[in-house]
Amino acid sequence: VYFLLFLKLPLDINQEVYNFLATAGAKYGVGFWKPGSGIIHQIILENYAYPGVLLIGTDSHTPNGGGLGGICIGVGGADAVDVMAGIPWELKCPKVIGVKLTGSLSGWTSPKDVILKVAGILTVKGGTGAIVEYHGPGVDSISCTGMATICNMGAEIGATTSVFPYNHRMKKYLSKTGRADIANLADEFKDHLVPDPGCHYDQLIEVNLSELKPHINGPFTPDLAHPVAEVGKVAEKEGWPLDIRVGLIGSCTNSSYEDMGRSAAVAKQALAHGLKCKSQFTITPGSEQIRATIERDGYAQILRDLGGIVLANACGPCIGQWDRKDIKKGEKNTIVTSYNRNFTGRNDANPETHAFVTSPEIVTALAIAGTLKFNPETDYLTGTDGKKFKLEAPDADELPKAEFDPGQDTYQHPPKDSSGQHVDVSPTSQRLQLLEPFDKWDGKDLEDLQILIKVKGKCTTDHISAAGPWLKFRGHLDNISNNLLIGAINIENGKANSVRNAVTQEFGPVPDTARYYKKHGIRWVVIGDENYGEGSSREHAALEPRHLGARAIITKSFARIHETNLKKQGLLPLTFADPADYNKIHPVDKLTIQGLKDFTPGKPLKCIIKHPNGTQETILLNHTFNETQIEWFRAGSALNRMKELQQ
Ligand code: SF4
Repeated sequence: VYFLLFLKLPLDINQEVYNFLATAGAKYGVGFWKPGSGIIHQIILENYAYPGVLLIGTDSHTPNGGGLGGICIGVGGADAVDVMAGIPWELKCPKVIGVKLTGSLSGWTSPKDVILKVAGILTVKGGTGAIVEYHGPGVDSISCTGMATICNMGAEIGATTSVFPYNHRMKKYLSKTGRADIANLADEFKDHLVPDPGCHYDQLIEVNLSELKPHINGPFTPDLAHPVAEVGKVAEKEGWPLDIRVGLIGSCTNSSYEDMGRSAAVAKQALAHGLKCKSQFTITPGSEQIRATIERDGYAQILRDLGGIVLANACGPCIGQWDRKDIKKGEKNTIVTSYNRNFTGRNDANPETHAFVTSPEIVTALAIAGTLKFNPETDYLTGTDGKKFKLEAPDADELPKAEFDPGQDTYQHPPKDSSGQHVDVSPTSQRLQLLEPFDKWDGKDLEDLQILIKVKGKCTTDHISAAGPWLKFRGHLDNISNNLLIGAINIENGKANSVRNAVTQEFGPVPDTARYYKKHGIRWVVIGDENYGEGSSREHAALEPRHLGARAIITKSFARIHETNLKKQGLLPLTFADPADYNKIHPVDKLTIQGLKDFTPGKPLKCIIKHPNGTQETILLNHTFNETQIEWFRAGSALNRMKELQQ
């Protein structure tokens, strides 16, 4: 009933988008997984990833496929367009960080704890420009889907991707998902699918799985690591709400059969003592196959009996897609999830929601206890009979004993003959809009650029282009641009979505101010801090500023995917040659960027800062453009350049 209820509504609301995807797929020979299929990364693990594959995907959690020994890398949509058009895909040769796993996983400790621990060590920036290669004797104690969990969340440390060596756990998973032939082939080439003996790593980290304790990271950033045993004390000290309002399991990171089984194993023990969860509790299966199989094997019912609600097979609350009613916006509260990200406003657009990420089994235990102060390894619960009991560490099968139940067939194969196939886009649609080409560079330096916003602190792609209710406009650039930078904090007044209009001197929302500048032919820049654009690969975070008149984004540093996305849309992602120059720029200044006529790889551009009192300062701005990317800038975007080359 829940499945039908939760799926029928989006089907009605999103029908025109699904029609567009189905008809575009049919026209251009692309398979289409219909709504209800599940989360893309789970679908890829079940159907497409295999040991040794090089796969690029338009989402930052594409590295999930590293759990099956693939080099799976998240890119912006424009990079994927290149690949589909047969243009080589480029990447600066990454470093390799080795993570040596010793000991073995047991008890309450799970694969999620490995990446939560690594995130605590490396931080959200530590994996930037690197592939993380897990190896060592501890690897064999982790299931294939557990390895996928670890690789998936490598996105949170900024890693280009993460990968595990081929082993018998991957073979087991391939065989169970109907790909025994691939497993046999991988066996044949095993020597190429494991680290070279004596290989050198740019950095080496060691994690002893036998000593690793369950972790919970947050709030507001996935690298703020705490052992579960200590988080309650830290929360008390920091004033984070101890009461857990909602526990949420699922997402591409943790929605496998094993994850659901371990959560159900915890739930079953509480039910045996007459308990239900104190917090609200939601479950999002990762795919139709997982949903159908956990229904058949009874896990879904156990989780419902505990008080859980099984939502549709989708990202759901992970990206703010749920109808949260228990709090008002601005109300301070705590949620615990098995997701990968917990940036401000990520799950429910409420900046006061303190979101923590942990394993599904710990989420379940905490949802039963209802407080961050509960440590299932040591603390007791009280059953309805008044007797105290301790939850045993969960034990569950990594894969179903019987075959997976595929559930409903949700895949549309492209037709053999697509001639005459029409792509469905209504010209009056509020959800879909065909892209117009961006204007070409006019051959001049960029004079007197206005500063739209000087961002203070963290600015993820969620801050630049918020998710949740905005996602319905993903196919309509003008409409979704109304969320431009609404989550970023303006250094001038410490507020979100409030910037000074340099012409009227009035403070107003960021998108409105950008539209004002666009209308009056005023070109603008954004000034950002470290790791600007971290988080998801969301291409709108680059399309929107371009659409509303930006010319450059100047920061102390960029997240890799976002930097490429900006270049692809004809923008200039530039970094301060001296990071301290960030302090020289005030939101009321104007900037002139010189050197574009001689735009060359490796050669910095000059920036003249013009202060309102008439004084000027000159600083240098670095860039990472290569020759091809400079052509994108000159043409106005990578797509424009592609068109030029075809003519
Ligand atoms: S929204 Fe969440 S579940 Fe969906 S792909 Fe992104 S991280 Fe995964």
